Amino acid sequence: PLEGKLAVITGSNSGIGLGIAQEMAKQGCNIVLNSFTDSKEDHDLADKLAKEFAVHVTYIKADMSKGDECRMLIEQAGDIDILINNAGIQHVAPIDEFPEDKWNAIIAINLSSAFHTTAAALPVMRKRGWGRVINIASAHGLRASPYKVAYVAAKHGILGMTKVAALETAKDNITVNAICPGYVLTPLVEAQIPDTMKEYGMSREEVIEKVILAKAPTKEFATTAQIGGTVAYLASNYAAQVTGTSISVDGGWTAQ
Ligand code: NAD
Repeated sequence: PLEGKLAVITGSNSGIGLGIAQEMAKQGCNIVLNSFTDSKEDHDLADKLAKEFAVHVTYIKADMSKGDECRMLIEQAGDIDILINNAGIQHVAPIDEFPEDKWNAIIAINLSSAFHTTAAALPVMRKRGWGRVINIASAHGLRASPYKVAYVAAKHGILGMTKVAALETAKDNITVNAICPGYVLTPLVEAQIPDTMKEYGMSREEVIEKVILAKAPTKEFATTAQIGGTVAYLASNYAAQVTGTSISVDGGWTAQ
């Protein structure tokens, strides 16, 4: 039972992060939502979630591209039980045209942020004698696609970090795992469709069928609730001996 536990979810005012927040709140978890904005909508989202599931929900602004803000998020959150590193961005371009600032931002947000939050959270979890770190990686942590050099590098990196952190916490009643979604139709995926249409000279429908879901044998997107349910499993005591590994939620993509 996750009742009364505190879960911090980075990048959770949209997409998969928000879906995870909803599933975890449904399980009775208190939640810290996060993004780099600080709008009325962000705080309204926290209030709505708290009311709907009768749990405690706060919103903390912190920019996951900045190491000190990542650590500050964990400090402000307090007695953290479950850390879900989810914040992520994408940029699509060939390597020789890939803008350096996009490379740096993707490595910072998709990889280094999880290093900083994990480093700040582990001492708190050790003191409390229980913990879960769950990193939202990607099928692109296991496989590559052209034009996604920074994203694929960051996601491969986070799977390596997951293994190291699992070994360092093995005796501490803390598990560290990753989830590797295939494609989930979120704003992040929506945003790649126009670039990919240009890159391949295709219509939106063709891009979805022939490019995005090309490698998914089921030909279906996963839902944010399904990713949330996988997080809930990894956070549960059923998964107490699952550590240092990843679970693919990819419609069979990486079976190939
Ligand atoms: P999204 O764009 O809907 O959500 C990304 C979240 O990260 C948003 O809440 C955004 O505000 C936040 N964010 C972005 N930059 C940030 C920053 N600097 N500081 C704090 N928060 C920041 O995308 P999504 O599809 O929900 O992606 C969530 C995670 O899932 C990412 O790590 C992504 O790589 C991963 N993922 C997504 C898919 C997919 O198909 N959508 C597949 C595999 C993995």
